Amino acid sequence: MKKIPADFSPEMSKAIQSINYASAGKIGLQFKRRFWEEDEHLYGGSSLTNMDITQIYYPPTDYFGKKGVLLGYYAYGGVADKLGAMSYAEREKLALAQGAKIHPQYPKEFESSYSINWKTVKYQEGGWVSYSANDRKTHYPTLCKPDNRIYLAGEHISYITAWQAGAIESAREVVTDIHQRVMKS
Ligand SMILES: Cc1cc2nc3c(=O)[nH]c(=O)nc-3n(C[C@H](O)[C@H](O)[C@H](O)COP(=O)(O)OP(=O)(O)OC[C@H]3O[C@@H](n4cnc5c(N)ncnc54)[C@H](O)[C@@H]3O)c2cc1C
Repeated sequence: MKKIPADFSPEMSKAIQSINYASAGKIGLQFKRRFWEEDEHLYGGSSLTNMDITQIYYPPTDYFGKKGVLLGYYAYGGVADKLGAMSYAEREKLALAQGAKIHPQYPKEFESSYSINWKTVKYQEGGWVSYSANDRKTHYPTLCKPDNRIYLAGEHISYITAWQAGAIESAREVVTDIHQRVMKS
């Protein structure tokens, strides 16, 4: 929204320009076999690490299927920016090298990867809103109010940021507000 030319009120424009979005990145690693189930009896959950990959998540579905995809890294903040600045091939190399310290099966079983850096996803440019305590006091109330006919709705217009629940709660509130406005007119 920061980049869309619009005639918002000065207060709303300032609020939109002032808010920041969090960095986030993930990589999916496809393996020829589900060694984490077959060899290690991992049927979901995650391994938390002190490496850049941050964590590995195991799928809680399709147990003992032919192939499988692990979440090879899920990073936030500065680490996500560091991984996001790498090429796809570099991200893959890092995820495989660090993940192999936990699962030595990685090099033999690896097939392909797919990674995302939310800061560079078009129309998204970040994982989720990141309000400071001051933003909540100054700009958040402005963003929650309609600017003439424009209502904002989404996870960013809630206190449950970074969750679908926040987006749903916000949508419900905005639809209720619009309904009440229409019924009064
Ligand atoms: C890495 C990651 C992990 C997450 N994990 C979880 C989780 O485990 N559980 C959970 O509950 N939530 C999770 N979330 C959060 C959840 O995905 C969001 O809170 C939710 O999707 C927000 O919904 P929304 O409707 O506010 O926005 P979005 O789902 O982002 O929808 C906004 C839409 O507007 C579109 N758009 C943007 N600009 C334009 C334009 N100019 N014209 C037309 N369309 C446009 C976008 O393409 C997008 O489709 C995660 C988010 C991320 C990034």
